[in-house]
Amino acid sequence: MTLQIADRWFEFRRISDDITLIWEPHASRLMQCNIWHVRGRDRDLLIDTGFGVASLHEAARHLFDKPLSAVATHAHVDHVGSLHEFSDRIIHKAEAADIEVQGENFSLYRHDHPPEMIDSLERAGYQVGPTFITAIPHANFNMTLFTRKAAPATRTVDEGDVIDLGDRRFEVLHLPGHSAGSIGLWEAATATLFSGDAIYDGPLLDQLPGSDIPTYIRTMRRLESLPARVVHAGHDPSFDGRRLKELARAYLDRH
Ligand SMILES: [Zn+2]
Ligand SMILES: [Zn+2]
Repeated sequence: MTLQIADRWFEFRRISDDITLIWEPHASRLMQCNIWHVRGRDRDLLIDTGFGVASLHEAARHLFDKPLSAVATHAHVDHVGSLHEFSDRIIHKAEAADIEVQGENFSLYRHDHPPEMIDSLERAGYQVGPTFITAIPHANFNMTLFTRKAAPATRTVDEGDVIDLGDRRFEVLHLPGHSAGSIGLWEAATATLFSGDAIYDGPLLDQLPGSDIPTYIRTMRRLESLPARVVHAGHDPSFDGRRLKELARAYLDRH
């Protein structure tokens, strides 16, 4: 199979004066993580960094005019691929070891992955195509030899820690279940939650290595009662507080 070379790898959408959404249109839906850039007075925040098959730092350099903290909501490859390109790297302590070292080879072909893993993703609601990307970022890109680079954390966080941008404060919510160290970033002043993969408006995954359903149930109870006005999630479109309650309730009803 020959994939086209993408014209550009990242797309940008200004959500408000100080929030920009960045995404990778040629990553398959499963692997298409939302990357959020938030402007602060003294420093900016980058929430997740995408797949890492192309340089996020280079593509988004027009946004990087201030000290920047890059936060990984968790260590899955579609969220931490470009983390190594940033000097200030934050992750929950439960997943710090995962990014300390280079990942194992991750082929971008479906047929190189265990059929049980693909089945479980499809049962959850994803259609997994023959490849995890639908175009290649540049000529000579090797689809079978792709590895997540090591990106050792420069700060680990846990429940209640604060990431301070000078005029905006984000509190770390530990939201395990999808993965052990999944976090959300909660800005109480604007009732905004950046939720990572703890919750999004799409097929939720709770059977991956590192997932835990009883733990996820506790996280969903917590999310159901969070007074959020807007949720910017790790995948799929943003939603409001009412939808947050619906999604959390739907998960709880299924379990
Ligand atoms: Zn994930
Ligand atoms: Zn994800």
